[in-house]
Amino acid sequence: MLEKIVIANRGEIALRILRACKELGIKTVAVHSDADRDLKHVRLADETVCIGPASSTESYLNVPAIISAAEVTDSVGIHPGYGFLSENADFAERVEKSGFVFIGPRHDTIRMMGDKVQAIKAMRESKVPTVPGSDGPLGDNPEENQRIAREIGYPIIIKASGGGGGRGMRVVHSEASLLNAISLTKSEAGAIFGNDMVYMEKFLTNPRHIEFQVMADEHGNAIHLGERDCSMQRRHQKVVEEAPAPGITEKQRRKIGDRCVDACKKIGYRGAGTFEFLYEDGEFYFIEMNTRVQVEHPVTEFITGVDIVREQLLVAGGAPLSYKQKEIEIKGHSIECRINAEDPTNFMPSPGRIEQYHPPGGLGVRVDSHIYNGYFVPPHYDSMIGKLIVQGDTREIALARMRTALDEMIIEGIKSNIPLHKEIMRDTAFSNGGVNIHYLEKKLGI
Ligand code: ADP
Repeated sequence: MLEKIVIANRGEIALRILRACKELGIKTVAVHSDADRDLKHVRLADETVCIGPASSTESYLNVPAIISAAEVTDSVGIHPGYGFLSENADFAERVEKSGFVFIGPRHDTIRMMGDKVQAIKAMRESKVPTVPGSDGPLGDNPEENQRIAREIGYPIIIKASGGGGGRGMRVVHSEASLLNAISLTKSEAGAIFGNDMVYMEKFLTNPRHIEFQVMADEHGNAIHLGERDCSMQRRHQKVVEEAPAPGITEKQRRKIGDRCVDACKKIGYRGAGTFEFLYEDGEFYFIEMNTRVQVEHPVTEFITGVDIVREQLLVAGGAPLSYKQKEIEIKGHSIECRINAEDPTNFMPSPGRIEQYHPPGGLGVRVDSHIYNGYFVPPHYDSMIGKLIVQGDTREIALARMRTALDEMIIEGIKSNIPLHKEIMRDTAFSNGGVNIHYLEKKLGI
């Protein structure tokens, strides 16, 4: 068991990790920026270290400061949370080489999954279904690239192997613009990601986003915890998530879940991870793997009863997984709304002091948030200030519970996207289930 760890993150996920540590008797070190002295988890941690000024490049992305905080506090591990350094293979390597446990996969696994061409290759080897596309990176031969595109069939999408955050992608509708699109994406990818390798995929026009949660340990065990539907997105940012995904059968779940588990075993995966798929016309297509805990992990916790962060910590300490696949049972339905400090009409961030905060409660209602009355939402970071998650025996009950909880939730002093969530939860198509990734933007008229 890890004795003491550094929580290298902020906000709700830092608090989530702190709670799991307390339950396991793991001591905590909160590293924080100058602007985050009043964060809830900083107040609750056993020790705190200020690692730099407000700007995240000088604090939460400051690798030497985080490592030396681990050193001076005699910590044994570092939990990166999500975002910031969580998928940075160089950071994970530095952590391990400095003698600490990185609470996540090995650095070479992170590196491999961060390179999409390599990730797709690994998936194909494990028979995880991928998007029809080029076999590896595109070469310099124009005729050959035209032939590959024709074979896949237009529209196609050119994607940067090192891409991320929805950048480094270009859709091509016909051969006339293909070669230009390839060279543009290549030079863009080189400039942004320092890696100009690009590949080609079939462009799916109306997919849903469905992802599978996995957990693996160092002893060769791996399990999946079913899937989540995260199709409600704006600008590739998830807004609402739910589990299980509406309309997905037990047979589909078992088939894809088992493939993900096989892939985990084959690549020697460790810790929590997510296989992201696009889903169209009854077929799953792998697009990428996230090698960390995700914002939306609570919906999976609600339907499986598995504490994902606790398992992350146990596995990182060398323990085998606490569950076997046959012990995992999907029960009921769960929905999550991401609560952002932003204007619900134009999505502009709305930092400032929270004058009034009344979280909702009741059976099957969970609020993961670091905010409190009088808390000042700093302007320097992501606008997400919490997550409202509900559970019910059926999707209908979960929906009704979410509507009730949203009506009860009060955040004053800053603007929040609660009105948008109220609207989504009363939307007929969403209520029916199974909308695609373009639905929200169409509804909003953007
Ligand atoms: P990133 O790492 O930048 O998030 P992804 O590969 O996960 O890149 O793709 C981001 C988003 O781009 C997807 O959620 C989807 O909306 C869109 N996308 C990516 N590949 C395809 C594809 N083959 N067809 C249709 N949309 C795609």
